[in-house]
Amino acid sequence: MTEGSVRPEAFQKAGPKRISVGRIDDNGVRANRAYHEKRDMQICEDLCNAFVSRSEQALVNFIPRFQCDVDHSRGGRRHGTSTRIPAAQDHFRGTRRVGGTKLSVHQQRQRSIRRMLHIMSQSRREDRDSSRRAQENQQRLVADLRSQYDVIICGAGSSGSVVARRLAENLDLRVLLIEAGGSDDAETVLDPAQWPANLGSDRDWGFEAQPNPHLNGRALSMSMGKGLGGGSSINVMVWARGHRSDWDYFAAEAGDAEWSYDSVLQIYRRIENWRGSPDPRYRGESGPVWVQPASDPSPIAYAMLDAAREIGIPTFAHPNGKMMEGPGGASISDMLVRDGRRQSLYRAYVHPWLDRPNLTVLTDTTVRRVLIEQQRAVGVEVVRAGQVLEIRARAEVVLSLGAIQTPKVLMHSGIGDHAELTRFGIPVVQHLPGVGQNFQDHVSFGCIWEYAEPIAPRNSGSEATLYWTSRPGLDAPDVLFCQVEFPVPSDRTAARGVPAQGWTMFAGLARPASRGRLRLTSADPGVPLAIDANMMSDPADLTTAVACVDLCRALGNAQAFRPHVRGEAMPGDIRGDALEDFIRDAAVTYWHQSCTAKMGRDAMSVVDASLNVYGIDALRIADASIMPRVTAGNTQAPCAIIGERAAQMIAQAHGL
Ligand SMILES: Cc1cc2nc3c(=O)[nH]c(=O)nc-3n(C[C@H](O)[C@H](O)[C@H](O)COP(=O)(O)OP(=O)(O)OC[C@H]3O[C@@H](n4cnc5c(N)ncnc54)[C@H](O)[C@@H]3O)c2cc1C
Repeated sequence: MTEGSVRPEAFQKAGPKRISVGRIDDNGVRANRAYHEKRDMQICEDLCNAFVSRSEQALVNFIPRFQCDVDHSRGGRRHGTSTRIPAAQDHFRGTRRVGGTKLSVHQQRQRSIRRMLHIMSQSRREDRDSSRRAQENQQRLVADLRSQYDVIICGAGSSGSVVARRLAENLDLRVLLIEAGGSDDAETVLDPAQWPANLGSDRDWGFEAQPNPHLNGRALSMSMGKGLGGGSSINVMVWARGHRSDWDYFAAEAGDAEWSYDSVLQIYRRIENWRGSPDPRYRGESGPVWVQPASDPSPIAYAMLDAAREIGIPTFAHPNGKMMEGPGGASISDMLVRDGRRQSLYRAYVHPWLDRPNLTVLTDTTVRRVLIEQQRAVGVEVVRAGQVLEIRARAEVVLSLGAIQTPKVLMHSGIGDHAELTRFGIPVVQHLPGVGQNFQDHVSFGCIWEYAEPIAPRNSGSEATLYWTSRPGLDAPDVLFCQVEFPVPSDRTAARGVPAQGWTMFAGLARPASRGRLRLTSADPGVPLAIDANMMSDPADLTTAVACVDLCRALGNAQAFRPHVRGEAMPGDIRGDALEDFIRDAAVTYWHQSCTAKMGRDAMSVVDASLNVYGIDALRIADASIMPRVTAGNTQAPCAIIGERAAQMIAQAHGL
């Protein structure tokens, strides 16, 4: 199936696997008609999607398929006037006279395609014009940088992008969005297959955790996105909403039912533009976030679902509905990919708003501190082109710098643990001992199989996902698997020998018990924090990890994978100390750093249910830092919710 198509399950039904396309004998006519109706339906659907998503390339890709249909029908039977073409496309129905000429179905299709191509090239020209207008607008706004805005949002990542766009929808508000990194206009960002190329590049903050005795002394690399879109511009594009129990836990910790699953589900429905099979109870179709099931997934992804069924794990049409309300299941992943291109949360929210007069996006500008006067945030101190500037905020400052940089800026602003701040001579504005504590992340262990015959990765190379419980009696998943269609060993397990052509089960802990912390190393905001990720420090995590790897091996060695694999490359059938050693050597981050300025009501909480920083007026946090505990899945979708809720609460607080 080509780019722009969105329903792999429809493709499966209609695909050539099921009904052969060849010479038709009399007995085959009905079957072939049925095939063609299904296939036409699929093509019409793809065509509409390509058209809606305005991809000329995707549309052009369909033409050979039409040709191929016609070639197959040269026997004359299938595309006669009696062939019923699906009602979805009236253009293609039967023979028609146009301007006195009788046109066959095929000719009608060709004309329609030509017409669509024409409209599309017009609309692409309009797109180009509007993107030029947006660029000029931003150049103007940045050149006339003001000394004061209504709201300043620090960090244009997953959450910050949402806050900025929602607030800027109100033309009476002057909004400034500040980002340390640069543009996202690069193939390594926009081409889903190229995401690994960003790791270690200048789009990555390149954080590194401290050496960890629980990981055989290893210091894990902790990539985080730097640049417009933040993590959502370099991540694997998986859209995972979090489990019912996560959101209900958030609500309980915050003491606010607005954070509950039922409440948040309505926000998800409102923000999604879901392109998979309709499921209105769970999915919305008119929001800014284009979400689609991985398009035309690899056979290895389908093998994962078959393997899950084989060992008694249910499979679902998509992972973001019923599957996240019980013990889990397996599914083809939902992706933030539109028409074959990454659709980061920045692209979904801010990019279409760049031509507005009230939203300024300031890149290559690093926030050092929040300016606080009489316990009220009044602006920020930034570094831009080597110069330190102050920009004031009339209404609020929002920190959306991610779970490492947000606590850092808080601490450098005098908000944090009294003893920690005074150790570096930073004047204490507000004692909040929870700043930088409660660090959480999903830890993962790459188990690898060798392909029987190489299968090239598709999409982002991660198209199937599985959540399950490591032991009986749990009502929510505590293990999480993303299949990766190439080998992903750790620095240490790479030395054990990795097949040149293989795939990985990225097997991780969805509910880690270990907690880490972040600490200042200097009073200078330019010096990085020490990240004590402390993964696997809680013995409960080792027990779950052993069960997780066992489950992973049961899946990877299931019958369903046999046609695709030559054998298991790692860990193999090892037990006891050897397995525990593998786990400590294999552990890597899932890049879901979070929870370092948690929302709650106890002494270690940093923000309240409205995301206000305790003890400071006009300062909110909206990013993964506020999670009381990491959600049982990938974290960008929950960050979008955090952004949505923050914007809503800011608007309410200021009567906007
Ligand atoms: C390699 C990788 C793969 C991932 N895969 C997935 C996935 O497939 N699915 C998923 O759901 N999640 C994934 N994640 C995680 C997800 O992207 C993050 O959880 C999410 O982006 C966090 O959002 P945030 O708003 O908290 O912070 P971020 O998105 O990290 O945004 C913070 C922004 O603030 C900017 N910033 C930081 N400090 C400063 C400063 N001092 N001044 C100005 N700007 C600053 C940063 O440059 C960044 O743009 C992945 C992450 C990585 C790194």
